[in-house]
Amino acid sequence: MSTLNKSSMEVLNDVGLCQEKGEALSKKNCPHCYSKKVKIHSHYQTKGNGERKMFICQKCRRYFAETHGTVIAGLETPLSEIIKVLKARMEGMGLNADVRTFGYSKKTILN
Ligand SMILES: [Zn+2]
Repeated sequence: MSTLNKSSMEVLNDVGLCQEKGEALSKKNCPHCYSKKVKIHSHYQTKGNGERKMFICQKCRRYFAETHGTVIAGLETPLSEIIKVLKARMEGMGLNADVRTFGYSKKTILN
Protein backbone atom coordinates (compact mmCIF):
# COMPACT_ATOMS: atom_id res chain seq x y z
CA MET A 1 0.00 0.00 0.00
CA SER A 2 1.29 3.41 -0.85
CA THR A 3 1.64 5.94 1.94
CA LEU A 4 -0.56 8.31 -0.03
CA ASN A 5 -3.59 6.05 0.44
CA LYS A 6 -3.26 5.84 4.18
CA SER A 7 -5.47 7.63 6.62
CA SER A 8 -4.13 10.37 8.84
CA MET A 9 -4.10 8.18 11.92
CA GLU A 10 -2.21 5.43 10.08
CA VAL A 11 0.42 7.92 9.07
CA LEU A 12 0.77 9.08 12.66
CA ASN A 13 1.08 5.46 13.78
CA ASP A 14 3.63 4.69 11.09
CA VAL A 15 5.96 7.43 12.17
CA GLY A 16 5.63 6.31 15.77
CA LEU A 17 4.09 9.53 16.95
CA CYS A 18 0.74 8.21 18.08
CA GLN A 19 1.05 7.04 21.64
CA GLU A 20 -2.13 5.04 21.47
CA LYS A 21 -1.12 2.85 18.60
CA GLY A 22 -3.93 0.91 17.01
CA GLU A 23 -6.52 2.40 19.30
CA ALA A 24 -9.32 4.53 18.00
CA LEU A 25 -9.56 7.95 19.56
CA SER A 26 -13.06 7.17 20.73
CA LYS A 27 -11.86 4.25 22.84
CA LYS A 28 -9.93 6.22 25.38
CA ASN A 29 -8.86 5.50 28.89
CA CYS A 30 -8.85 8.25 31.46
CA PRO A 31 -5.36 9.85 31.39
CA HIS A 32 -5.66 10.63 35.10
CA CYS A 33 -6.77 7.34 36.69
CA TYR A 34 -6.64 5.04 33.61
CA SER A 35 -10.23 3.99 34.07
CA LYS A 36 -12.00 2.79 30.95
CA LYS A 37 -15.27 4.24 32.20
CA VAL A 38 -15.21 7.41 30.17
CA LYS A 39 -17.97 8.96 28.20
CA ILE A 40 -18.26 11.81 25.76
CA HIS A 41 -19.15 14.94 27.66
CA SER A 42 -19.31 17.58 24.98
CA HIS A 43 -17.89 18.76 21.69
CA TYR A 44 -15.76 21.81 21.16
CA GLN A 45 -14.41 23.72 18.18
CA THR A 46 -10.70 24.04 17.56
CA LYS A 47 -9.15 26.87 15.59
CA GLY A 48 -7.98 24.81 12.64
CA ASN A 49 -9.17 21.25 13.07
CA GLY A 50 -12.92 21.47 13.36
CA GLU A 51 -14.81 19.69 16.07
CA ARG A 52 -13.23 17.62 18.81
CA LYS A 53 -14.69 15.67 21.66
CA MET A 54 -14.37 16.36 25.35
CA PHE A 55 -14.53 13.27 27.58
CA ILE A 56 -15.41 12.91 31.22
CA CYS A 57 -14.13 10.09 33.40
CA GLN A 58 -16.93 8.47 35.36
CA LYS A 59 -14.53 7.29 38.04
CA CYS A 60 -12.51 10.40 38.93
CA ARG A 61 -14.92 12.91 37.29
CA ARG A 62 -12.13 14.73 35.49
CA TYR A 63 -12.39 16.06 31.96
CA PHE A 64 -9.95 15.50 29.17
CA ALA A 65 -9.78 16.17 25.44
CA GLU A 66 -9.78 13.58 22.71
CA THR A 67 -6.20 14.45 21.79
CA HIS A 68 -4.92 14.25 25.38
CA GLY A 69 -1.64 12.35 25.49
CA THR A 70 -1.03 12.49 21.76
CA VAL A 71 1.47 14.66 19.98
CA ILE A 72 -1.29 16.66 18.37
CA ALA A 73 -2.63 17.86 21.72
CA GLY A 74 -2.39 21.61 22.01
CA LEU A 75 -1.05 22.11 18.53
CA GLU A 76 -2.34 25.12 16.68
CA THR A 77 -1.14 23.93 13.30
CA PRO A 78 -4.03 22.29 11.45
CA LEU A 79 -3.75 18.50 11.46
CA SER A 80 -3.95 18.38 7.67
CA GLU A 81 -0.79 20.49 7.49
CA ILE A 82 0.99 18.24 9.97
CA ILE A 83 0.03 15.16 7.95
CA LYS A 84 1.32 16.83 4.80
CA VAL A 85 4.67 17.54 6.42
CA LEU A 86 4.88 14.06 7.96
CA LYS A 87 4.08 12.41 4.63
CA ALA A 88 6.75 14.47 2.93
CA ARG A 89 9.21 13.40 5.61
CA MET A 90 8.24 9.77 5.07
CA GLU A 91 8.74 10.10 1.35
CA GLY A 92 12.32 10.92 2.11
CA MET A 93 12.17 14.68 2.05
CA GLY A 94 14.85 16.15 4.25
CA LEU A 95 14.18 18.54 7.07
CA ASN A 96 15.71 21.46 5.21
CA ALA A 97 13.57 20.73 2.15
CA ASP A 98 10.54 20.62 4.42
CA VAL A 99 11.38 24.02 5.81
CA ARG A 100 11.69 25.43 2.28
CA THR A 101 8.53 23.73 0.96
CA PHE A 102 6.12 24.37 3.80
CA GLY A 103 7.55 27.52 5.30
CA TYR A 104 7.62 26.19 8.86
CA SER A 105 10.63 26.59 11.06
CA LYS A 106 12.72 23.54 11.92
CA LYS A 107 11.56 23.91 15.49
CA THR A 108 7.91 23.70 14.45
CA ILE A 109 8.45 20.56 12.39
CA LEU A 110 10.54 18.80 15.03
CA ASN A 111 8.01 19.62 17.69
ZN1 LIG B 1 -10.33 9.09 35.71
